[in-house]
Amino acid sequence: LYDRDGWIWQDGEWLPWREATTHLLTHTLHYGMGCFEGVRAYEGPSGTHLFRVAEHTRRLLDSAHALDMPLAFTANDLIEAQRDCLKKNALTNAYLKPTVYFGAEGMGLRAKGLTVHAMIAAWDLGDYISPEAASIGLRALTSSWARHHVNVSLCRAKTNGHYVNSMLALNTAVKAGFDETIMLDTEGYVAEASAANIFLLRDGVLHTPEVTSCLQGITRDSVIRLAREVLKLDVQERRITRDELYTADEAFLTGTAAEILPLRELDGRHVGARAGAPPPTQPIADDSVTAQLQRLYRRVVRGETGNELQAFSGWLTPV
Ligand code: PMP
Repeated sequence: LYDRDGWIWQDGEWLPWREATTHLLTHTLHYGMGCFEGVRAYEGPSGTHLFRVAEHTRRLLDSAHALDMPLAFTANDLIEAQRDCLKKNALTNAYLKPTVYFGAEGMGLRAKGLTVHAMIAAWDLGDYISPEAASIGLRALTSSWARHHVNVSLCRAKTNGHYVNSMLALNTAVKAGFDETIMLDTEGYVAEASAANIFLLRDGVLHTPEVTSCLQGITRDSVIRLAREVLKLDVQERRITRDELYTADEAFLTGTAAEILPLRELDGRHVGARAGAPPPTQPIADDSVTAQLQRLYRRVVRGETGNELQAFSGWLTPV
């Protein structure tokens, strides 16, 4: 990942990719206190656009504020830097990772005078999930690791250290032969996947866990709005139990990188079997709500806004 050409933005300067290093005593490396975003840019008929960059940048600044990491850059500075990052690296279909971290001015939890830094790296993502993979979806295992709790951590902040918990859960599932993991909160209710939110459809109504243990995903919000405003579906945010996933008509995961991925099997149960869904090895039905949302989402992120999608053109920022 590091031996390549390109430019990385750090605190307003451009560093050649190979020289974009940091000191070994960087505080965030030792204690995991920092925050980041994952943002996407897409190439569409009217050029390259960042997707919901204002919302991602706001979440980054909210995370930094909640973690008490005062940052010297405004939202506009960071949005401008993300656009420049794409231009300088000649990227179109890309993934950007703005990150806020502490410097190396001190060690230990009581370190004083730590400087707060920001960086943005971006790379080509191409077709991250092929259309076939997006249609086949995932087989998942419910994790024995509980997801974060509001009195243990800041669940709304996208904190670097949170991902230890995600990786413990994901790696256990992958080693056992699954594609993903579904994590429950400390009380046993469904929270989210390792790095994606979760939805289920039952009798034409969409349900997704309320934002307590799960991240307040921006794709989650996009899907809720598309479902309500375009597909005219009822969407409920509430506590969900794992048996509701087993018996759902459809289920899917949402995230910036993954977009919308069907959840086809959970703990050996074929999700949607009783509603007549194709077996987990076959593509999902074209007329399923999951497939309809996938098609709408792909059009919106690429700026292929027809009449019914006009309301969402504000989600795109031209590069
Ligand atoms: N939950 C977690 C833990 C994540 O890391 C992500 C990815 N950022 C999501 C949910 C989905 O959030 P978003 O749609 O904003 O990418």
